[in-house]
Amino acid sequence: MIGMQPNATGTWDLFATTPEAQRTQDELLRARTKLGVFLDLIPVGLVIHQRHAIIFANLEAGNVIGIPPHELIGHHILDFVDLEDSELIRDRFNRCFDDALTVRALEARLTSTDGQKREVQLSMSPLFWDGLPVINIVFSDITLLKKKEHELFILSTTDSLTGAYNRRYFMDAAAREFKQFQRHHTPLSLMVMDIDYFKRINDNFGHAVGDEAIKAFVDASLSNLRREDVLGRMGGEEFAVLLPQTKLESATAIAERLRRQVASLVIDAKGGQARFTVSIGVTQATASDISIETGLNRADRALYEAKATGRNRVVAEP
Ligand code: GH3
Ligand code: MG
Ligand code: MG
Repeated sequence: MIGMQPNATGTWDLFATTPEAQRTQDELLRARTKLGVFLDLIPVGLVIHQRHAIIFANLEAGNVIGIPPHELIGHHILDFVDLEDSELIRDRFNRCFDDALTVRALEARLTSTDGQKREVQLSMSPLFWDGLPVINIVFSDITLLKKKEHELFILSTTDSLTGAYNRRYFMDAAAREFKQFQRHHTPLSLMVMDIDYFKRINDNFGHAVGDEAIKAFVDASLSNLRREDVLGRMGGEEFAVLLPQTKLESATAIAERLRRQVASLVIDAKGGQARFTVSIGVTQATASDISIETGLNRADRALYEAKATGRNRVVAEP
């Protein structure tokens, strides 16, 4: 007969009561050792926990978390999961355990022992380990992948000179916000802005100073907007802003504040100081608009009027 007894590390040792059982146990141990070598070679983290206490970890699990695998034994499984994700992970452990469910492709953030933030993708399934119900977790370090994914997102959605969103992203976001507006009738305002006589800046001070002016304009715009507003560079020195949950009066006040701030900007250049102004058209989405383009066309008309009536002004068209 082969029995089990708990050992000092909190896992279980096998013990044999007959010579035949001893041989079986030896074979079992050899098989386990071979399996252990194999499990330490694979580039995937493996952790087994029993009621949240880690009872097994392979080398890669130790590498990701930043301590040798044997030191992980006995730790609470959530010790290394960031607080923001620990409730979700705890919930999935419970479901996995209570309902014998396999949970796949869950993402979680960890902080390794050297303080480095890591992101992992993990799957878990219930398992019997030495006769005890445990949870088996496999995970991959996706930190680099997430970083690259973020870099690609930034590259494909923003304009490299200013960091403002590009036209394509702006139009996608605008279409999304317009759908929300149609569904919930919460106010949605739009601005279209074009820097006045910008050719003169380039002509008088050079293209590099023109670039500086565009960047200063974006910084000024962002300092007047909220996090949920979307600023898009629609072309050259023409920008548009999406202001969710904002009525025309507030949007017009924001535009007016920005117009004044832009008029006071000074860009130091070799040939002197470059100054410029901006014209802004403002409107609010209405129930009769059939798409976001209807609203943008109205804001464009307001901008045209601002240009036609002297520039450096805000025109609001309800
Ligand atoms: P208006 O008041 O009618 O808008 O006059 P404007 O001179 O600004 O006229 P327009 O909008 O037609 O000209 C925009 C100019 O902006 C043309 C182009 O050379 C310049 N421009 C566009 N993109 C950039 C850029 O990225 N950097 C620089 N330096 N200049 C740019
Ligand atoms: Mg212009
Ligand atoms: Mg223009």
